[in-house]
Amino acid sequence: MQRPVAIAVHGGAGNLARYSGTGRLEEAHKFLDEGIRSWHTMLRDGCSALDVASVCVRALEDVGYFHAGKGSSPNDKGYVELDASIMRASDHAAGSVAAVRSPKNPIDVARYVMEHTSQVLMVGAEADVLIRDAGIPVVDFSYFVPCDEVGAALPSTGTVGAVVLDQHGEIVAATSTGGTLRKRAGRVGDAPIIGAGTYARARLGGVSCTGIGEYFLRTSAASRVLARVELLGEHISTAAGTILTEIVNLGGSGGMIAVDHRGTVAMPFSTSGMYRASIDGSGNVVVGCL
Ligand code: ASP
Repeated sequence: MQRPVAIAVHGGAGNLARYSGTGRLEEAHKFLDEGIRSWHTMLRDGCSALDVASVCVRALEDVGYFHAGKGSSPNDKGYVELDASIMRASDHAAGSVAAVRSPKNPIDVARYVMEHTSQVLMVGAEADVLIRDAGIPVVDFSYFVPCDEVGAALPSTGTVGAVVLDQHGEIVAATSTGGTLRKRAGRVGDAPIIGAGTYARARLGGVSCTGIGEYFLRTSAASRVLARVELLGEHISTAAGTILTEIVNLGGSGGMIAVDHRGTVAMPFSTSGMYRASIDGSGNVVVGCL
C-alpha cells in the first residue's frame, strides 16, 4: 500500500481583508490552487519532500504576490534583506540564511548551506560571498517589486513556507521571507531560525510559521508545536492552536502551517487572513486567503 503524502504551503498571514474587492485575493487563490495540485502530483510521482519543498518555496518566492523573494520590500534604510531556512526531519539536517541582499531564491541558499556546508546559519556579507562562490543566481535591487505598499502603515507581514510529507515518511519544512514590512535594517525575525520559524522532527511532523517574528522567536514556536505532539501526545491542530494562542496572549499575531507524520494538516492563524493551501494524507484539498 502506498504511504500517505501531504503538503501544506503558506504565503503569509496578515491583514489580508484590506485586499477584498481588489482582485488580488482571487489571483493569489488561483495561483495557490494550481500550485498545490501540481506539487502534490510531484509527491505522488515519488519526488522527495526536500525537492518538493524547494520547488514550491521557489515558486512562491518568484511569483511576487507575497513578501518573499521577488515581492520583498525594502527595510527602513531602503534595501531588501532576505531570510530563509529549511529542515529535514529524518536526520535533523538544517540550513538557513539571514539578512542577505543578493539571491534570487533565498531558499536555494538555505538548502545549499544544509547540503554543502557544516554550518546551519549564514548571515550578512559573508553569506553573499558564499552565494556567489556556490554559483547561486543573484539579482540586483531592481529585481524586487514590493508586493505590499498599500496599507503598509497597518501591522502587516508576509512570508512563504511549505511543509511536505513524502512517500518515504520524510518530512521537510521550509520558510522564506523579506521580513516584516519596513523592518529595521539588520533586524532578523523567526523565519531563518530553526526551532522558531521552521522545524521538522521524524515521526512527528513539520511546521513553518508566519507573523510578527519577534513573538515566534520568544516562544520557539515551531519546535514547541512538535514538542507538545511528542511529549503531551496532542493532535497537531491542538498543539499548533495552543502555541498560536500563547503568541496572541503576548500581543503577537500570525499563523502557521503544520503537517504530522500521518498527513494531518493544521493551518491556524490569528490575523484577518493567511494565504494557504494544502492537500492532506487523505487527499482533502484546502485553499484559502481569508
Ligand atoms: N515572520 C516573518 C518575520 O518576522 C514575517 C512574516 O511572516 O510575515 O520576519
